[in-house]
Amino acid sequence: MSETKTVLIAGGGSGIGAAVAVAFAEAGYKVAISGRRKEVLDEVAASTEHEILCHAADVADRESVNSLFAWAAETLGTIDVFVNSAGINIPNRSMEKLSPEDWDLVIQVNATGAYNCMHAVLPAMREKKDGVIINICSVAGLRTSPLGGVVYNASKFAMDALGRSVGEEEREHGIRVTTIYPGEVETPILDKRPTPVSAEHRARILQPEDLAAAVLMVAQLPKRARVPELVMIPTSQSFQ
Ligand code: NAD
Repeated sequence: MSETKTVLIAGGGSGIGAAVAVAFAEAGYKVAISGRRKEVLDEVAASTEHEILCHAADVADRESVNSLFAWAAETLGTIDVFVNSAGINIPNRSMEKLSPEDWDLVIQVNATGAYNCMHAVLPAMREKKDGVIINICSVAGLRTSPLGGVVYNASKFAMDALGRSVGEEEREHGIRVTTIYPGEVETPILDKRPTPVSAEHRARILQPEDLAAAVLMVAQLPKRARVPELVMIPTSQSFQ
């Protein structure tokens, strides 16, 4: 790269977000990660010889998101690439079991959190007439599945619609929005499944590095190339 590009990753403390952070650091980007707990972020930073900057923030909390982007503006300067990999699911997933509190929580993190981050990152990107935003959604944002459950499906459909709508508006400002729809990936979010996931299954499905390679590819494309959607699923998983 001729000049050092910057990337900020929300939900960078584990799973896909942590793998994305390491991949971008290895590719020569100036990398910052964010998540709710600073000590978890520090562990990711310590896992690589490259520098990764860390800042605690909760995507569901607008003030916290605004302080994150103020910190990033000071530390990174401009943000060339923003990746949102913050997301949750809950164990009680059927409508019969889902509590109103769990509905609110998942919508606040997965849907409103994605909105909060985009709302905060876009003004500087518009001013620069450049920028890439990559939201990690889910195949549950394209087709509902009992595996993800009622509120996860609803939150991911919202994230899908958000990315598509904003992507169409912002391309006129030179900003490219990509929504990535992964199938099953071996990350800590699987621990929230109502039925435990076997070691054999975990070995068969996508690994966080597979998603990190896709995120890096999208970010490195020339400005003329826009990827509105990217679906990646394990070969073992059906897509019908
Ligand atoms: P993960 O649990 O390792 O990563 C999610 C990260 O988001 C965690 O580090 C978590 O601490 C962080 N987070 C949660 N709430 C937050 C909040 N309020 N503010 C800031 N950070 C918060 O699991 P993952 O699989 O890497 O998940 C990343 C994204 O990928 C999620 O949106 C998830 O829904 C999506 N996804 C995962 C799979 C899968 O099978 N693993 C499949 C499709 C989509």
